[in-house]
Amino acid sequence: LPPSERSPILELPDELISQIAAGEVVERPASVVRELVDNALDAGASQITLRLLAGGVRLISVEDDGCGIVRSELPTALKRHATSKIASLSDLESVHTMGFRGEALAAICSIAEVSVLTRVEDAPESHGWLLDGRSGELQPTARNRGTTVEVRELFFATPARRKFLKTDATELAHCIEAVRRHALARPDVGFAIWHEGKLVAQWRAVASDHADPLRQRLADVLGEDFVTQAVAVDWPIDLPDDGSGQRLRVQGFAGVPDAARSRNDWQFAYVNGRYVRDKVITHAARSAYEDVLHGHRQPVYALFVSLDPTRVDVNVHPTKIEVRFRESREVHQAVRRAVESALAVPRSAGKVETEP
Ligand code: ADP
Ligand code: MG
Repeated sequence: LPPSERSPILELPDELISQIAAGEVVERPASVVRELVDNALDAGASQITLRLLAGGVRLISVEDDGCGIVRSELPTALKRHATSKIASLSDLESVHTMGFRGEALAAICSIAEVSVLTRVEDAPESHGWLLDGRSGELQPTARNRGTTVEVRELFFATPARRKFLKTDATELAHCIEAVRRHALARPDVGFAIWHEGKLVAQWRAVASDHADPLRQRLADVLGEDFVTQAVAVDWPIDLPDDGSGQRLRVQGFAGVPDAARSRNDWQFAYVNGRYVRDKVITHAARSAYEDVLHGHRQPVYALFVSLDPTRVDVNVHPTKIEVRFRESREVHQAVRRAVESALAVPRSAGKVETEP
């Protein structure tokens, strides 16, 4: 451009910075659901209840019975880059929580109307606090321990974005899917989803003394057919010996070849409890089926990879749905062998005795 047309370089206002950042994190109501459920789980919730209106566009309310937020820190929780989960670069190297970027609440506040009602166990007051994200006003409100975050009128300020949304039914389906992914990884937590006043999904917490909580939760969420047509996967393998003694483990369930589907919608992969879309795991699982599945048939599985958090980088993508492994070949090998060896076991061996 000729000099006369050059625009000045300006620092963007905070609000706009958040709105730009929100674009990366929040694509649709289900993205908000995922972030809020992440937060509830990080807070140690044992029961999480969602209430949605209009597929989540008009209202997403996520209520938990977790640790709550103390009054003095409540306004900070909505600020950008404010988090209780990491404090230093070394914490970033080994993230143990679902969140750590301190971005979600701030991002959501910039594109919706947010309020937070919360109470901690040992609060001096005998009530909770309600924070209005817009006005910053704090007001005493009745509440048991835990937090309820309400998000109203998503994308109200960005109508162009709102136009990208699908029908309420489709957005609701995405919201339910987001919760389902969490629910599979956490049989110890109860989940309920209400839409327009109707209970649309509910998975009760599996008792801690249950013989096989994961199997129970998979049956509850994906249906009894999923588990009766799947074999248990449990594979320990050593990582290259660098003295750390850390192991890589693959657990879960893999569907028998007959249970394969035409779509890949029943492929759930987790790394340290976090749902991921990972090429290494997907490819490894697929290759374990290469001799037994033909054409475009898609295997079904729910695989949980656990490894030392320093061996996986979760800070790759704003939504944390992608990860990077330090030893991706070992992960690939472990997943492939885990599934192969599970499939090699006669089917009845993977079943639970109580089956007819
Ligand atoms: P992050 O989860 O990456 O820390 P968020 O913006 O999602 O960032 O949340 C900011 C902070 O607010 C969290 O670190 C946590 O301390 C607090 N917080 C958010 N949601 C909850 C909740 N449901 N229960 C307790 N604390 C919460
Ligand atoms: Mg978070």
